[in-house]
Amino acid sequence: MTETPQAIPATGRRDAGKVRWAIVGASQIARSWVAKAIQSVPDAELVAVVSRSAARGRAFADDFGIPVSATSLKSLLAETGIDAVYVSTNNDRHCDDTLEAAASGLHVLCEKPLGLTLNDAIKMARACDRAGVVLATNHHMRGAATHRAIRDLVLAGKIGRPLAARAMYCEYLPKELQTWRTKDTAQGGVIYDLTVHNVDVLRFVLADEPVEVMSMKASSLIGENGVEDQVQSIVRFASGLIAYMHEGQVFAHHETALEVHGTEGSIYGRGILDEAPAGRVYIRRGTEMTEIPVEPVNLYAATIARFNAAVLHGEHPAATGWDGVASLATALAVRRSAQEGVCVPVPFFQGSPVIPG
Ligand code: NDP
Repeated sequence: MTETPQAIPATGRRDAGKVRWAIVGASQIARSWVAKAIQSVPDAELVAVVSRSAARGRAFADDFGIPVSATSLKSLLAETGIDAVYVSTNNDRHCDDTLEAAASGLHVLCEKPLGLTLNDAIKMARACDRAGVVLATNHHMRGAATHRAIRDLVLAGKIGRPLAARAMYCEYLPKELQTWRTKDTAQGGVIYDLTVHNVDVLRFVLADEPVEVMSMKASSLIGENGVEDQVQSIVRFASGLIAYMHEGQVFAHHETALEVHGTEGSIYGRGILDEAPAGRVYIRRGTEMTEIPVEPVNLYAATIARFNAAVLHGEHPAATGWDGVASLATALAVRRSAQEGVCVPVPFFQGSPVIPG
């Protein structure tokens, strides 16, 4: 391995039917899930990793058998033929890293939150649209077989008209992750961390758009410097449905849950909203509870496969850049509502590139 970019044996090895990936940011999530997910998908090839730290990049490349490590995307581009980057840096770098990749003609799978501000996220989505590259948001929850099953039940009308939903993404943040997430007032906090996911899951399973939120947040246990570690919200959707969302990093004993309640039945997802393929789905009518069979899949591999299909075959990624804009818009409304104690409207950013201005 070398931290100075070396030429990836170029054209001879290059397979037109494959997306050649670089990971930008030698992060924990890349190490735990995404590097292996890229390597598991047949039409993906993981060829490089970019880290600000030469040593960390080299160790990451060694651990995953990645041919090249580099300390900047620019230096990598001069020598290698990559098609796509997975932006896995800290939240405050997503915007610059994505803009740099788009300017270089690279497709981008960016971690959530897409940006720290709505302006940044819109800038990212527009830049990728203009560059003609795919921008996807790593809302990996859309890859879960459980969440897809719930969406299928809702959209097939199996519970009639959905009236209410509840999403409880409550967990205990492992000690080793209690760094910038729990301390940094600019980019930390559970709203950037988990609220964006809960919003996206609700948008996905309901095929509905949030229009206003009322929220309260707290620094209950591990949040420092006023950084929130739990938040609860009531969200009104365009259809009139009302959803309850709870995200927390301080709950060692709380089971995650996703419920949708309709005129003809209720859906209960238990132990879902996770990084791992986990949990069970039930439908309840009256007092009768029936489990829906679900075949588990790796959420991240499913996300990479959809991204590759977008790059290679012009399909839609699981969650677009505009979906990342939409989840951020609601998360920022949650934050403002919690700060100001008022109900906050959510600007409309359905997965469409047609935003005025
Ligand atoms: P980490 O703190 O592990 O890594 C963030 C960045 O910090 C890395 O890209 C790396 O950049 C640098 N870094 C890594 N290790 C160290 C270290 N020991 N000392 C100093 N710097 C280090 O972040 P996470 O993996 O927790 O999160 C990365 C992104 O992914 C965030 O945007 C987060 O919101 C998102 N995320 C998404 C998840 C999902 O399932 N969709 C789950 C978890 C996180 P560099 O190598 O360039 O220095």
